[in-house]
Amino acid sequence: MVSVLLRYQELALKGKNRPWFQRHLIRHLRRALAGLGVREVRVPMGQIEVVVGRDSAVAEVRERLRYVFGIANFSVATRVSLDVDAIGDGILRDLPIGNPSSFRVRVRRADKRFPVRSPEIERAIGGRIAAARGWSVNLRDPGLTIGIEIVPGEAFYHFGKEPGAGGLPTGTGGRVVALLSGGIDSPVAAWRMMRRGCTATFVHFHSYPFLSRASQDKARELAAILTRFQLSSRLQLVPIGEIQRQVTLAVPSALRVIVYRRLMFRVATRIAARVGAHGLVTGDVVGQVASQTLENMAVTGAAVSLPVFRPLIGMDKGEITAAAQRLGTYPVSIVPDEDCCTLFTPRHPVTRARLDEIESAERGLPIEEFTEQAIRQSVVERFECPAMVSGLQPRPGS
Ligand code: ATP
Ligand code: MG
Repeated sequence: MVSVLLRYQELALKGKNRPWFQRHLIRHLRRALAGLGVREVRVPMGQIEVVVGRDSAVAEVRERLRYVFGIANFSVATRVSLDVDAIGDGILRDLPIGNPSSFRVRVRRADKRFPVRSPEIERAIGGRIAAARGWSVNLRDPGLTIGIEIVPGEAFYHFGKEPGAGGLPTGTGGRVVALLSGGIDSPVAAWRMMRRGCTATFVHFHSYPFLSRASQDKARELAAILTRFQLSSRLQLVPIGEIQRQVTLAVPSALRVIVYRRLMFRVATRIAARVGAHGLVTGDVVGQVASQTLENMAVTGAAVSLPVFRPLIGMDKGEITAAAQRLGTYPVSIVPDEDCCTLFTPRHPVTRARLDEIESAERGLPIEEFTEQAIRQSVVERFECPAMVSGLQPRPGS
């Protein structure tokens, strides 16, 4: 039987809210690790212990834990009785194969009632390991760190920490509607909100049949990757090609991108009301493209009363690209597609839209009808994890 010790983002979880955050994290963990033989989830002093019944499942447990928000880091550990000799015996038995350049033993005595102090335990067990293996001790920069945690009534040992996904537990931040294009930015924007505990409902606007289905497939693949973090997702695919065509008949070309964006926001707000979301999320970055000037973002946002969150607003393209690569969305995002905003769009959109100008351009349009039509013709798809993950593996030859 193996345990995994999870350490959560301590600061955020302090105080009265801690049990509430912890409950969300534990509930999410149980779902994330479903099917892997988890026997029990316990809470020994400031950490969470996941007891895994099958040793063979540990690799998959570690893999899935990388997608659980609210975990700062974790260790695959062994639980032993609270006895220095027993801890030493266990460690000597389980020491990793191979020769590290050096090692150190680090003890955290969370239960101060245990009479042997940390440095004493470190010296005793470190001495046994050095004698048995001939390894040298290096306290500053060891090749291997052996961790021991003393908690009430029991102890754990492990051979290192692995980084967790950070952030706050899924479900603690409320729901948002994330506008997911096929590009690099919007999945990263959605992920950043999700990492703060928000659950995202995804919305993608497409211009099929005027353009290919490619953008929808990309949105699905991106939604599937993001679903690893929140385990189940809803993606709403909204056709706006016909609406865009009608907009071209009535709105001067330079203003169209803004009018399309405002329509997207109105539709997204309708969806937000249905799913109980408190805000919209986009991948806008100041000055990245013509439609993302401060003036244009203000005019776009003015179409709706919900707050519009733009978590990438101050980031450089290089930083966003690096984040997309770490997240795994980058290869999907760079697959060529035809973005709906390129359809019926002029080469030189307005960079400083004025609200009165846009509102008067919209006056001749049945905005309400457009919004309803878009919602009516949209399709909702659901994504579940871990089932979805296996479907995501690259096909042979692709
Ligand atoms: P991205 O890389 O996210 O596509 P971008 O730099 O291409 O961003 P824009 O095309 O101006 O920027 O889009 C700005 C934001 O508007 C996107 O990040 C996304 O949140 C939203 N958006 C744009 N097009 C769509 C779409 N077809 N469906 C859903 N959301 C969209
Ligand atoms: Mg785009």
